[in-house]
Amino acid sequence: MTTSFVDVSEARALAMDAADPLRLIRDEFYIPKHHGREVVYLAGNSLGCQPRGVKQLLEHELEDWARLGVLGHEEARDPWLAYHEQFREPLAALVGAKHHEVVAMNTLTVNLHLLMVSFYRPTSTRYKIVIEDSAFPSDSYAVQSQARFHGLDPADAVVRIKPREGEDLLRTEDIEALLEREGDRIALMMMGGVNYLTGQFYDVERITAKAREKGCVVGWDLAHGAGNVPLRLHDWGVDFASWCSYKYLNGGPGAISGAFVHERHAGAEMPRFAGWWGNDPSDRFKMIREFVPRTDVDAWQLSNPPIFSMTPLKCSLEIFHRVGMDPIREKSIELTGYMESLLHERCAGRVRVVTPADPEHRGAHLSLVVEGPREGMKDALIAAGVTVDYREPGIIRAAPAPLYVSYHDVWRFVDVLTGLLERV
Ligand SMILES: *Cc1c(COP(=O)(O)O)cnc(C)c1O
Repeated sequence: MTTSFVDVSEARALAMDAADPLRLIRDEFYIPKHHGREVVYLAGNSLGCQPRGVKQLLEHELEDWARLGVLGHEEARDPWLAYHEQFREPLAALVGAKHHEVVAMNTLTVNLHLLMVSFYRPTSTRYKIVIEDSAFPSDSYAVQSQARFHGLDPADAVVRIKPREGEDLLRTEDIEALLEREGDRIALMMMGGVNYLTGQFYDVERITAKAREKGCVVGWDLAHGAGNVPLRLHDWGVDFASWCSYKYLNGGPGAISGAFVHERHAGAEMPRFAGWWGNDPSDRFKMIREFVPRTDVDAWQLSNPPIFSMTPLKCSLEIFHRVGMDPIREKSIELTGYMESLLHERCAGRVRVVTPADPEHRGAHLSLVVEGPREGMKDALIAAGVTVDYREPGIIRAAPAPLYVSYHDVWRFVDVLTGLLERV
């Protein structure tokens, strides 16, 4: 921190809340409670809070099912046949895509596989897949199994990019240098837009451009990016992407995922695992034998939409669409910066922030390393009403999700942490 004076008072936090244009949005969510008091919920990068409107929307669907049975496909208040269509506009706005480039379907790892079936086409010379060394385990398993599926040895086919010795974060120039050096052998580059462990928001645009220049296909896992950071997948020329909807998007445990395929692949002949929902809808109920794929991302859909898993997301996306990503991002930058400055001021020497200091390279997430003794830290945080992700050895991932986390929450978290550090 370069600022010489940070007002660490509780009064300052309350004043920031009073001036926050998004302060009322918090009331649209249930914040979990601990001993009757709302917790400081900083786990929205793991599972977002429930929008209060979900229950009523779900009840509508249950009622329509009871009332209409099969006729609900066409006569429900939101007809089930086309249920996924209403997700296109909010999803497109969220990730910077055209409407026909996005679809809500399946779950994240399933989508990564379905998309890799089409987009990972190894040849004898170009067969490598690049991922981050600290990729989420499911992504590691997915690419390793894709390599095996093509008869390749994952130890040879999967390249894991690591930070430099003694560093926590990846440098864009190192990724570019790898692409320059080995690009001709790389079939697929598949990274997390925001790293789940460090909170680093990669330069998606630059990395995508470099990889494509070298003839690689580029896919992004946006599990920690969607609803968190500004994305322009279409303009950045990303080939494909997918994200889950239960983290920053508050779509509920195991919520339906989102997928993006750039329109330049529209109608391209590709190997694909097909199902009837990827078929041209005008032929869908003719029960013909031959698969006639849609010409857009919908070609990757397999099944008819799972209404009860989509309804909570519909509710949540309505909030995102109404509020807009720009104000959300604005608060996110300020709130995360506030958390960082309080930590610097009050926990100096005991807590190290791993996440990049530059707001352009992070979202609503700080990864903290607690130095020195920290016995009982996790239980003590929970007992003090703070929900964060804590992993040995002393790593805290704190996500001040701007839709429902207040400045006072952030103040409480740092206050609790400071108290614990003084005790141990
Ligand atoms: C959360 C997360 C997942 C989880 O995948 P599911 O298929 O939804 O269980 C996968 N990859 C990344 C990067 C994640 O952050």
